[in-house]
Amino acid sequence: MRIGVLALQGAFREHLDVFRGLGLEAVPVRLPSDLAGLSALVLPGGESTTMRRLIERWGLRGPILEMARQGAPIFGTCAGMILLSKEIVDGEEPVLPLLDVSVKRNAFGRQLDSFEADLQVPMLGDAPVHGVFIRAPVIDRVGDGVDVLARLDDGRVVAVRERNVVATAFHPELAGEARFHRVIATMAGAFDEPGEGAGRRRHPTRRAAAR
Ligand code: GLN
Repeated sequence: MRIGVLALQGAFREHLDVFRGLGLEAVPVRLPSDLAGLSALVLPGGESTTMRRLIERWGLRGPILEMARQGAPIFGTCAGMILLSKEIVDGEEPVLPLLDVSVKRNAFGRQLDSFEADLQVPMLGDAPVHGVFIRAPVIDRVGDGVDVLARLDDGRVVAVRERNVVATAFHPELAGEARFHRVIATMAGAFDEPGEGAGRRRHPTRRAAAR
């Protein structure tokens, strides 16, 4: 299994470190050719406007959408969550509209520009997740097919999942939190080795080459 982390800008090294710390192979992605054969892709935090431009410039948009369509797990943190949202409130056009949510950039006023919070994430067990929020977005609207994974105490949604796409408004990778990465790795394993009847059409070239 090889997991890719989009490495155009932002906090990508920390994601690579978390996966490597779990004993997994993780590689930076800068070009469409880097996506070949990946089992999952992370879109890190950073600055979503800059990342949007670089995704367009390097021709990554179509290939990432195709990878997601095939069912590969995609994990976005902070700016990565913005890139994955179908609607950016009062903002630009969507980039990789894979999550049926509306996202609001820089949703926390100046006083709370950056903060940390312990969150209950039932999917990850009882121990709270320590989330680092840095000029973080928040999710305003959640579509029907979207599971809410975590909320702040005031009820605002800060982590979601829709099928193979997971996103957090915060940075788990900056807090030594590896459980989201483990979930992504488990999903990546299922993508690599589909059960009988899963009906998946992935990586025909890789399969053919293995024969
Ligand atoms: N504020 C940034 C944006 O809107 C996101 C911040 C982050 O990724 N830590 O793109």
